Amino acid sequence: MDARTGLPVVGMVGAGQLARMTHQAAIALGQSLRVLADSPDDGTALVASDVVLGDYRSLDDLRAFAQGCDVVTFDHEHVPHEHLRALVADGANVQPGPSALRFAQDKLAMRERLSALGVPCPRWTAVASAADLRDFGADVGWPVVLKAATGGYDGKGVWVVESVDAAADVLASGTRLLAEEKVAIERELAAVIARSAFGQGAAWPVVETVQRDGICVQVIAPAPDLDDELAEHAQDLALRIAAELGVTGVLAVELFQTRGGLVVNELAMRPHNSAHWTIEGTRTSQFEQHVRAVLDYPLGSPRPTAPVTVMANLLGGPADVRPAGIDERVHHFMAHWPDVKLHLYGKQFRPGRKVGHVTALGDDVEEVRARAAAAADYLVNGDKE
Ligand code: ADP
Repeated sequence: MDARTGLPVVGMVGAGQLARMTHQAAIALGQSLRVLADSPDDGTALVASDVVLGDYRSLDDLRAFAQGCDVVTFDHEHVPHEHLRALVADGANVQPGPSALRFAQDKLAMRERLSALGVPCPRWTAVASAADLRDFGADVGWPVVLKAATGGYDGKGVWVVESVDAAADVLASGTRLLAEEKVAIERELAAVIARSAFGQGAAWPVVETVQRDGICVQVIAPAPDLDDELAEHAQDLALRIAAELGVTGVLAVELFQTRGGLVVNELAMRPHNSAHWTIEGTRTSQFEQHVRAVLDYPLGSPRPTAPVTVMANLLGGPADVRPAGIDERVHHFMAHWPDVKLHLYGKQFRPGRKVGHVTALGDDVEEVRARAAAAADYLVNGDKE
């Protein structure tokens, strides 16, 4: 409890943009997030007052951080699993708990558990040897999608391989691997929900996530032309996964839409890029909802505020287009798109890095998409003569 406010202390491990936006939402609830930051330059360390510098891989640092927190939650899933267990053994209130988080940390564990629950997944297998991969490829057909069980993000740790030979380096690297059939993806969707420790659930509309080179560039809410029944099915699936796995906080279920229906790609148990649109696009943002859920408060309404919301990520451009004059660009952006909302994360513009996002609302999907894309492109690249 914070003696000054009489309110519980929420600690978030990690101080990137997710913590930064959670902090922003927490402020309105009378909270001030405590964060465990790698560096004083982390996005949240720049804006929060209760910053603990430390290494999320160090149990000592995690223990020191958890002291005085009423609940400990996360802006990434990279805290070693055994450390999470140790914190719980110490008596820390870790939300989501380690037994749920495991399925967002380890794709092999996730596939095993979801398959056991009867949740539709791509065909998959654990790969411990070249023979495993050869047999699987012979079974499902090449190419095969090879994945590192742990540690991947934004497509790093995912390899589409045409043969066992093409996978030689990955196989030799000693990484724990799984293989999946290469799904014929019509488009990618995300069903994002929140679940409180008490078990209350709330689902946002299902969105389409538009990908380029394995990175999400745009999120369209709701997913255009998605059949109502399929949308409801996706929401129910996400709520069911959360209940079965005992997830608390935000759960994002990344889905592939295929001719045969939906299959689950992966799970994230934290605020997720596919729900940044909820800040302006719904009554309760994912960040506020995450705070409510981990504190076991009743959840807020996930109802949309506009027929269409589009979020476009701001991805750092090539190294030579550094944000010279970013301040000037922000100025022009605001003049040109007074109704597009800008979120900058306080990061350096490195190539491919998510440095911010923009959100546009409206009535017509194509118009809103074009507006969001133009605004994002201007901010990252400036005027193209
Ligand atoms: P990460 O954890 O790095 O985000 P994902 O498992 O989400 O990795 O995979 C990244 C991307 O690779 C997905 O968004 C999708 O486009 C593609 N992908 C992943 N798994 C498959 C699959 N089984 N079939 C086809 N494409 C896939």
